[in-house]
Amino acid sequence: MAHTPLRYPEKLISSHSKLLIERIREAFPPVRCFGVVNDCPCEECTELRVTLQRRSWDEIPASFIDLRRGPGLLTDTAVHAFLPAFMSRAIEDPALDNITLQFTVYSLCPSLPEDDDPPGRPPTIDRLQQLARLFSPAQRAAIRAFLDYAVHRDKCLQLQQLQVEQAIQTVWKTG
Ligand SMILES: [Zn+2]
Repeated sequence: MAHTPLRYPEKLISSHSKLLIERIREAFPPVRCFGVVNDCPCEECTELRVTLQRRSWDEIPASFIDLRRGPGLLTDTAVHAFLPAFMSRAIEDPALDNITLQFTVYSLCPSLPEDDDPPGRPPTIDRLQQLARLFSPAQRAAIRAFLDYAVHRDKCLQLQQLQVEQAIQTVWKTG
């Protein structure tokens, strides 16, 4: 039986958001992740491993995404596998101060300032270009659409619009 644990009530989702979520679903057919989720022995990372290993992004409970807020602390393989869960949830969350949206965008852009809050180090351009190579052209196009949506929706991200556009050009249009 298909289940959609990521859904907010329909009325809260604008039609643009719905189209974007559809685009993400089309670009990212759910695939179970059998790769290394992360390789850190600490308690937080162990919990991540237990929750994510051998699952596909559409099986991840919304409550888990709301707790994690972004795909920090994951290997590139796991970011590739689970990014659509974070993007979809961020789009569906109607909150004005949408931390999942912000942290997910930070994880896709090189060295955005003041992002000590999200777990993990801010990614460098080199690291992101390596990550981007795991994604298909359709997946990178969906990510570009997500980034564009995010800077138009979120006031904090609007302040970072130039960096986000740079990330679109240097990372997500290439790779
Ligand atoms: Zn750890």
